[in-house]
Amino acid sequence: MEKTYSISDLVNAKRFAYKRKGELSRCVLCGCYSCISVFLANQINEWIKIDEKDEWKDEGICPFCGSPYILGESSNHPIGKELLLEMKKYYGV
Ligand SMILES: [Zn+2]
Repeated sequence: MEKTYSISDLVNAKRFAYKRKGELSRCVLCGCYSCISVFLANQINEWIKIDEKDEWKDEGICPFCGSPYILGESSNHPIGKELLLEMKKYYGV
């Protein structure tokens, strides 16, 4: 079954990519849309702080490629390689 994603799907997924550490930790599956890896949230062992609108947030670092381009499963978008590939294409990371 072929799935297609609209631009708003991708933008919404991206919004959910910026998770506080606690929120992302609750997710079971995560995906990196830089190297298209799917992994468990507890495999993330590095976090960076990002300053978003004067609010510091912890952002997970991909355990495979070191990129901060991680989506969490709780985003209402099932984590799959198709979504990750669409995200990569759209955001050009
Ligand atoms: Zn990665």
